[in-house]
Amino acid sequence: MTRACDGCTLCCKLIPVEEIDKPRTTWCSHTAQDKHSCSIYASRPISCVMWSCRWLTDDTIPYDLKPDKVGFVIDPVLEDVQLTNPDTNESIIVKAVQVWVDAGHEDFWRLPKYRTMVLHWMAQGHLCIIRTKTPTDGRCLMPDGQGGITLQRHTIDYDMVSAKIKATIERIRRTSTAPKHVPPTEEAHD
Ligand code: SF4
Ligand code: SF4
Repeated sequence: MTRACDGCTLCCKLIPVEEIDKPRTTWCSHTAQDKHSCSIYASRPISCVMWSCRWLTDDTIPYDLKPDKVGFVIDPVLEDVQLTNPDTNESIIVKAVQVWVDAGHEDFWRLPKYRTMVLHWMAQGHLCIIRTKTPTDGRCLMPDGQGGITLQRHTIDYDMVSAKIKATIERIRRTSTAPKHVPPTEEAHD
């Protein structure tokens, strides 16, 4: 199925745009009044020209996760997360999927249909960073070592991550053979 923004402008609210000093999780002042288009489309900043969310460009993301339908935007760029062992000072870098969430959707991952997607990312060796309105409100989803997900708050302090979780991350990084495609969300319904 062909994908198009088609009236969605959620990234114009959630994603910061440096050139125009637009903060995260705040509607851009150039968003049209009906919130369905950009009023300066022909002359929009280059970062807006270059941007496409992962739903738009990656058809492994289920079609029904269109950002304006679910209240979050999956960033196309993976973030490096450094986990450091405070005893040995050894570090590992783990890639993390970044999800920009609208207010009220911070716990999206607790819903079965989204848990499936996050668990699939973790099976590929990725963590998941939840980007909220407050930059310091660090939230990182990690495997709990028992096939589930654990939420780490204050993620700046990665030394707090338990050895068990780190071991799990190391293991899935070494052994990941997960299929590329995210299972359809319908399969996750109870
Ligand atoms: S969030 Fe994705 S689908 Fe929505 S407007 Fe932005 S690029 Fe298009
Ligand atoms: S300038 Fe246009 S495309 Fe860029 S964030 Fe604002 S409304 Fe969206």
